[in-house]
Amino acid sequence: MQQYTVRITGIERLTHDVKRFRTEIPEGYSFIPGQATSLSINRPDLRKRMKPFTFTGTGKDPFLEFIIKIYPAHKGLTDELDRVSEGDELIIRPAWGAISYKGQGTFIAGGAGITPFISIFRDLRQRNELQGNTLLFANKTRDDIILEKELGEMLGRSFVNILSEERSDGYFHGFIDEEFLKAHAGGGEKRFYVCGPPPMMKSVLSHLASIGIDKSAITLEF
Ligand SMILES: Cc1cc2nc3c(=O)[nH]c(=O)nc-3n(C[C@H](O)[C@H](O)[C@H](O)COP(=O)(O)OP(=O)(O)OC[C@H]3O[C@@H](n4cnc5c(N)ncnc54)[C@H](O)[C@@H]3O)c2cc1C
Repeated sequence: MQQYTVRITGIERLTHDVKRFRTEIPEGYSFIPGQATSLSINRPDLRKRMKPFTFTGTGKDPFLEFIIKIYPAHKGLTDELDRVSEGDELIIRPAWGAISYKGQGTFIAGGAGITPFISIFRDLRQRNELQGNTLLFANKTRDDIILEKELGEMLGRSFVNILSEERSDGYFHGFIDEEFLKAHAGGGEKRFYVCGPPPMMKSVLSHLASIGIDKSAITLEF
């Protein structure tokens, strides 16, 4: 498989456990918003230890961007990524993935599952085609919400947050269930995009089935 070595040009902390990494973009490299790549750190002991991470840029930027939740306790790749610095190198491979924009709909994300949707929303905003899409974003607490300000600016009232471990004005409380979906899923075309940790995906898919959403109307990954 083709590999590309890219230098890290910027690292920024977005939440208490999420970091944004920007890298150079290899000449001629391309991806579709929503896609991921297999990424590793360019160090002799780590080059073969790869995990998928989603591009959060639009594909038209002069850099690549990844937003990555760090799991120190797993002692896996994200723990290593927590320790890299600007100037260090990553290895990426060709872009792949099941999520891409197929038309207006309701986007349902849990935690770091927001990453493919960030890329899609930024791309739609650039093309002035964001209107008509709704984001339901599930997190544990307000401090866990990735890019809350930017998502709010992009989506306005179509950005709906639900928190499972905190009660706060302006935020719904609990888990995404049938009632929540019926109340907040966008109208019009009934297309759904779902991305999040496996237990959340399982639960959301069963609630979508219960409210009569056909599998063919659902795009998902993770
Ligand atoms: C298509 C796709 C796109 C993705 N895009 C992104 C993205 O953009 N951003 C993002 O943040 N993530 C993304 N992910 C998730 C990412 O690929 C990694 O799975 C995740 O970051 C965890 O990697 P890790 O190596 O740190 O830990 P893991 O692979 O989860 O864990 C490493 C090891 O730790 C152990 N372990 C597992 N769970 C625990 C636990 N609870 N406690 C202690 N030890 C444990 C296991 O032995 C495991 O082998 C994506 C996943 C997919 C499939």
